[in-house]
Amino acid sequence: MSISDMSASAEGQLDDHERLRLYIEGVRERAIKAVPWGPDTVGIPRQASESALLRINDVAFYANARQEVTRFAELCLSLLQLHHPRDGGGLSSGAAPPTQRCNCCMLRWPCPTLRDMVRLLD
Ligand SMILES: [Zn+2]
Repeated sequence: MSISDMSASAEGQLDDHERLRLYIEGVRERAIKAVPWGPDTVGIPRQASESALLRINDVAFYANARQEVTRFAELCLSLLQLHHPRDGGGLSSGAAPPTQRCNCCMLRWPCPTLRDMVRLLD
């Protein structure tokens, strides 16, 4: 059974881990496919102030955004690969389902890392 198989609930709904993975893969794909930015191809939005330092900041942001967004997305995907529910092995008492734990940090699933990352979906 793959992690993706474990991620779907009985109603066919994707769980937060899978929704987050799909979202981040979409961000990464859009960043990779985006045309590289250049001052002569897109331009820079006007700012309220005419501060040269803010203008330089904008240029640096747009010039590097494509590559930086791709890197952030890849980092998030790596974190998701690390933090996923562990296969079985949970202790159960009675009819209650076994407690799931994170495969990486061993905390109760969903672990704090995933809960924080899920805020990206809000
Ligand atoms: Zn974890």
